[in-house]
Amino acid sequence: MDSKGIVSKTIALSKYGIENGNVNYQLSPKKLQKITIEKGQGEETKNGVLAIKTGKFTGRSPKDRFIVEDEVTKDQVWWGDINIPFSASKFDKLYNKVTKYLSAKELYVRDAYACADPQYRLNIRVINEYPWSNMFAYNMFLRPSEEDLEKFEEDWVVINAPGFKANPEVDGTRQENFAILNFNKKIALIGGTGYTGEIKKGIFSALNLILPVYKNTLPMHCSANVGEQEDTAIFFGLSGTGKTTLSADPKRKLIGDDEHGWSPEDKIFNFEGGCYAKVINLSKENEPDIFQAIKPGAILENIVFKDGEVDYSDTSITQNTRVSYPIDHIQNIQKPSVGENPKNIFFLTADAFGVLPPLSKLNPGQAAYHFISGYTAKVAGTEEGINEPKPSFSACFGAPFMPLHPTKYAEMLSAKMKKANVNVWLVNTGWTGGPYGIGERMKLKYTRAMIDAALAGVFENINFEKEESFGLEIPKECPNVPSEVLKPRNTWSDKEAYDEKAEHLANSFVKNFEKFEKYANPEILAGGPVNYEYNS
Ligand code: ATP
Ligand code: MN
Repeated sequence: MDSKGIVSKTIALSKYGIENGNVNYQLSPKKLQKITIEKGQGEETKNGVLAIKTGKFTGRSPKDRFIVEDEVTKDQVWWGDINIPFSASKFDKLYNKVTKYLSAKELYVRDAYACADPQYRLNIRVINEYPWSNMFAYNMFLRPSEEDLEKFEEDWVVINAPGFKANPEVDGTRQENFAILNFNKKIALIGGTGYTGEIKKGIFSALNLILPVYKNTLPMHCSANVGEQEDTAIFFGLSGTGKTTLSADPKRKLIGDDEHGWSPEDKIFNFEGGCYAKVINLSKENEPDIFQAIKPGAILENIVFKDGEVDYSDTSITQNTRVSYPIDHIQNIQKPSVGENPKNIFFLTADAFGVLPPLSKLNPGQAAYHFISGYTAKVAGTEEGINEPKPSFSACFGAPFMPLHPTKYAEMLSAKMKKANVNVWLVNTGWTGGPYGIGERMKLKYTRAMIDAALAGVFENINFEKEESFGLEIPKECPNVPSEVLKPRNTWSDKEAYDEKAEHLANSFVKNFEKFEKYANPEILAGGPVNYEYNS
C-alpha cells in the first residue's frame, strides 16, 4: 500500500486464463459501494447502507453444487444427492468458458483469508464480476494486514461470474447456474447466480474436507461466543434456527455466527471475518445487536424500501432477506476470533410441530444421535398457502456443506465432547402451544433466558423430568420462563393431538436414521426416540 492506503500491487490474471481484464484490486468497501451505486447495481438507505439485489437467486441452490471427482476426492467424498460428482474434463471446459467470459471485463479482485487461528489459515483470492460481490468478500472473509498482502500467496481461488450462464447440455450442469468445487486445482467456480452466500459456503465446503482430512480439525456449522470466564459456547443449527440471533448476546463476546473449527489444540476458531444475518422482521427491540450492526459498510440483500426506509416485514422479493457486515460491527467481540474448548454446546432446532421441548439436556448417546439426525422443520412458504410443516433432516446440522460421510464428523465431535466434558443441550426455537398454524413461535426472550440459565449453570441445582417420546430430560423450572412452557405437552390444549404429533415426529426420526443405523453403536441408537426396535 502507498501512504494513502491504496494498494499499489498489480495482479495479473492471465495465469487463470483471464486476459486483458481490468483489475480493480483490493478496493476499499467505500469505493466498491460507490462503484456499485454508479453502475446502478445498488441503492443506499437513508443511513448510507448499501442495498443490492442478488437477481434470480435469493438463496443457495444445493442441487447445482458439484464436486469435481478426481484423485483427491474420489475415495474421500460421500457421493450422492448432496455431493454430486462433476468430471474433471467437463470442469476444465466450463472453466475455460467462464474465464473467457470474464476476459476484457472490469473485474474486482480481493485477497483475503479464512480461519482466524493462524495455524489453519487458508489464503483466498476472490475474482468477482460485480463490485458488490467483492464487497461481500471483504465483509465475510478475514482481512489481511498490509504486511500480509505483500507476501500473499493464494491457496484457493474463487471465480464468481453471476452474469455467465451455462448451457446444461454442453457443459454438464443441471441448469444455467452452478457452484463447483475443484479440490485438485483449488478452485471454487460459481456462475449464473448472484447469491452472495454461494461465495462463503463454497469456501466453507472446501474447509469441511481440508480440515478433517489434513489437519485433524473438526469443521462445524455453528455459531460461537465466549463469556467472562473464557467459557465458550457453540450453537449448531440449520438455517433459520437461531445461530446468528442467539450468538449475538451483549453479555458475551461473539466469536462468529456460522462456521467454526475445533482444533486438536482444543481451540474453537472462526473461519470468517463477518456475519451474514437474516433480516426478516428484524426489530431493534428483539435483536438490538444485529440492528445496530446495519451501518455503512454493511450490505443489505433483497430488502424492500418504503419511502426510503427499509421495510423488514416485506418479503415480496424473498423470505431470505439478509445483511452482511464485518464482525467488528458487533460491539462485543472476541479478538482474535478464537476461544477455548466449549463448556456448553447447543443444538438448535426450529420444530414446527411444537413437539420438542424448548430446552432439554442430552446424554452422550442422545448428543450423537441428534447431531447425526440434524433435525429441523421446514415451514412451507406462505405464498404456496400450505399449512403443513415438513420435517427436515440434515446430518451434522449442515449436510449440504459436508463433503465427507456424516459419521466422520460425528465421531470427531463425540471424541471432543467427551474430552472437553461438555454439557449438550437441545433447544427448540420453533413452535409451542401447538404446531405451526395453531401454536406460536417460542418467544425469543424465553429462548434467551433458557440459554442464559444453562450458561450460568443454574440447571445443576434443578430437577429434571424425562419426556416420553424422545427420552429428553426437561428441567422443571427456569428463571424468567413460565414453568408450563418448559414441557410442550402442557402448552397444547389438545393433549391427544400432542401425543399423535409426537409419535409422528418420532417416526420421522426413526425412518431418517435407518441409513445411519449400521454405523451407530448401541449407545447412539439408545439416544433416539424411546420404544423403537432397531435391526442392528
Ligand atoms: P443461517 O444458517 O441461514 O444463517 P441461522 O441459524 O443463523 O440461519 P438466524 O439468522 O438466527 O438463523 O434466524 C433465526 C430467525 O428466527 C430470526 O429471524 C429470528 O428473529 C427468528 N426467531 C424467532 N423466534 C426465535 C427464537 N425463539 N429463537 C431464535 N430465533 C428466533
Ligand atoms: Mn446465520
